[in-house]
Amino acid sequence: MQYEEKRFTMVVYRINEAEFSVLSLNSTFGKPKQYVVKWIGYKWICSCPDYAKHSEEMEYACKHIEAMFKAVRKIGWSRDGIEVEVVRKYRLFNGNGRNAEAVKEETTSVEVVA
Ligand SMILES: [Zn+2]
Repeated sequence: MQYEEKRFTMVVYRINEAEFSVLSLNSTFGKPKQYVVKWIGYKWICSCPDYAKHSEEMEYACKHIEAMFKAVRKIGWSRDGIEVEVVRKYRLFNGNGRNAEAVKEETTSVEVVA
């Protein structure tokens, strides 16, 4: 099985108690994209298309939600922005030249960039 590792650099700001702004500097779309990660009383949701696809899943955390969790551990209640790196592994298609397309996210890990 082949895997591809993708690194996403994001800048996380706390907007208020239940809302964060996550700026994805190298998004899947190739240019910076800003998303809002929000607590809705029983779970965190994100405004990105990836989250929308999985919105039925209670536990789903897109990379922006992961970045937010990691950022909170560092900044607590501070309103300062923090740069966070999220590493995701994608399983690749076998053969037929479609290797560039990631199918399923296998594992995730989050690292803070100092
Ligand atoms: Zn997201």
